[in-house]
Amino acid sequence: MQNRPIGSRAERAVWYAAGLRFTCTRCRQCCTGAPGYVWVTQDEIARMAAASGLSVQEFADSCCRRVWLRVSLKERDNGDCILLGEAGCRLYSMRPSQCRAFPFWEANLRSRQAWESVKARCPGVGRGHLYTRQEIEQILALGQST
Ligand code: SF4
Ligand code: SF4
Repeated sequence: MQNRPIGSRAERAVWYAAGLRFTCTRCRQCCTGAPGYVWVTQDEIARMAAASGLSVQEFADSCCRRVWLRVSLKERDNGDCILLGEAGCRLYSMRPSQCRAFPFWEANLRSRQAWESVKARCPGVGRGHLYTRQEIEQILALGQST
């Protein structure tokens, strides 16, 4: 009898026990495209507001939208994140946890096939820096904090 459900994070983690390679090419594909949400916490909003030289209210009004009980960054009509500029993310060093964690999201780590499929939209997957399983689990947790 199983003590834990099949498909728990511990079970799923086994396939990347040897680590995974990823180095961001700053291609910006994950900052645009199909409609979606970039969830932000109040702490993140406060940090991004300060970095923008805006009050929290000003930043929230211009860059954030409420989605039920959560808050997401706005996006432009063309799918660009509101913070995406000519040279990339305008607040890269302050970007939300969800962005920091990508591509190490739970859905992408569900299986090797899921991870491989991310390559189609993220050229950084499968190249460069080798993240250990422990590092991946830490990043995964970061991305789930919002
Ligand atoms: S799609 Fe991947 S490589 Fe491109 S900016 Fe996003 S994380 Fe970096
Ligand atoms: S906050 Fe920055 S890194 Fe995140 S989606 Fe927007 S532009 Fe991209």
